[in-house]
Amino acid sequence: LNYKHFISNSSKISENIKNRNVKDANIELVNSLYTTFCNLTTQINSKRNKRNETTKLIKQTKLEELREKLVEQARILKEEIQKAELELEKVEKEMIQEGLKIPNDTHHEVIVGGEELAKVVKIVGVPLDSTQKGGNIIKDHMTIARELDLIDLESASNVTGTSWYYLRNAGALLELALIQYAIYKVISKGYIPIITPDVVKTEYSDGCGFQPRDGEVSQNYFVITSPIGSVGTGNNQEISFTLTGTAEIPLAGIYSNKVIPSSKLPIRMVGFGRAFRAEAGSRGQDTKGLYRVHQFSKVEMFCLTSPEESEEMLKEIVNIQEEIVKDLGLCFRILDMPTYELGASAYRKYDMEAWMPGRGKWGEISSASNCTDYQSRRLNIRYKPSLSSSNESTNDRVKQKQQSTEFVHTLNGTAIAVPRMIIAILENFQRDDGKISIPEVLRKWMGGMEFIE
Ligand code: AMP
Repeated sequence: LNYKHFISNSSKISENIKNRNVKDANIELVNSLYTTFCNLTTQINSKRNKRNETTKLIKQTKLEELREKLVEQARILKEEIQKAELELEKVEKEMIQEGLKIPNDTHHEVIVGGEELAKVVKIVGVPLDSTQKGGNIIKDHMTIARELDLIDLESASNVTGTSWYYLRNAGALLELALIQYAIYKVISKGYIPIITPDVVKTEYSDGCGFQPRDGEVSQNYFVITSPIGSVGTGNNQEISFTLTGTAEIPLAGIYSNKVIPSSKLPIRMVGFGRAFRAEAGSRGQDTKGLYRVHQFSKVEMFCLTSPEESEEMLKEIVNIQEEIVKDLGLCFRILDMPTYELGASAYRKYDMEAWMPGRGKWGEISSASNCTDYQSRRLNIRYKPSLSSSNESTNDRVKQKQQSTEFVHTLNGTAIAVPRMIIAILENFQRDDGKISIPEVLRKWMGGMEFIE
């Protein structure tokens, strides 16, 4: 973290914290911890120098009395250094802990406030009347799923718990088709396909900004493992992992602690992974059927860019998202999200909502964020900027080698989050005869099937 930047921009950061409604971030506290950290470091260094000089003098002196005095001085200095080092360690830990709570900066065009202030950027298509369609009542996705045997919540509730599900028959095929379709669509835009691990070390999810906020409980699921053979021995060391809430985390992790040559930027990846969400505190809120579940398949775009390129890249991601939803034939709208909705990491965020006639409302289906250098600072992802000079001499090249590195910008965007897409498809493409029309672009991934019946 850039503590010097924190100190020289304190009032701006304080206002940003307020604007984003982050209750537990305190820039004054971080700054005072940093000042203490610097003072302690200076003190320790000066005591170390003094001790080195004293040790030198001890070796040189022939006078026994002076020697004894110096030895005592060196002993006291050693004790003082050890004490100060312990204090430094404590202060540093707290400084990092508090520093990590400072949210990203915010794009100047983002509206300050809650979800209700989201700005509708565009609407594509006409929302289907939620009560009537050709004289028939529109059914919600769970009614359709029960009639066509597509989703089994009951078995999942026994085997795992509520808000878990089985997809069956064409329901299972629809998931696979959506994944294939989305991955190939994004690959066609120059993205590299990657299947990610769904379990990551907790420092990576924290680094991406997924730590709990404002004393809330964590939205993550954790895995605690004990080394094989150690159970019951009393000295089993436990290691904590996080089940990924999104493939964004393992994708960002690939470049952690790396320096990327500027010629390799931008990097575009499309990951497939399973997303796990504890959804703590959302009991009863949109929990019907597949809308808010604990595990789902997601195809995710993730990009690394130079700082100059990230705003354009966000537009590219949103354009791809738009193309995907348009191809599926859904009615959707794009929202420019206000400050309270940005989480810790986003500098700017666009959400996309599809019309879900069975629910009678819009439902979020995807999200795209520019996280600027928030994640790259925490995961230490850097790049070496190239020199702007067109006439590159040997001198320039030497200079470039010596030139310091900078943090990349990271961006993420949902290509397909399967469950809500299934809701939108079932509810929008239901026919009077009870069949569901399968969007044209998915048919080749479903063995040519045109309807679910
Ligand atoms: P997020 O990473 O939170 O922006 O979520 C990305 C997308 O995943 C959202 O736009 C939703 O379509 C979907 N999603 C998020 N949480 C859930 C959930 N608990 N159940 C089903 N889909 C979800």
